[in-house]
Amino acid sequence: MNCWHCDRPAHGTCVFCGRAVCKEHARTLPGILQIYHTRQGRHKALVVADALYCGLCQLLDDPVELEHLE
Ligand SMILES: [Zn+2]
Ligand SMILES: [Zn+2]
Repeated sequence: MNCWHCDRPAHGTCVFCGRAVCKEHARTLPGILQIYHTRQGRHKALVVADALYCGLCQLLDDPVELEHLE
């Protein structure tokens, strides 16, 4: 797979959208690895400080509510 930006061989893929990027064009962003809740009923997230990010995809400001999935 080649880099989305420059079409040279990629070194990894964006954890958010899956685009491939080379080292030169890779960016990092904190990324959530897993969300769990504690025995006290509180939600916590395991976060990777420098998850690989393509620099292109955008996170929406508000979480999207999913319906009819149950
Ligand atoms: Zn590149
Ligand atoms: Zn991306």
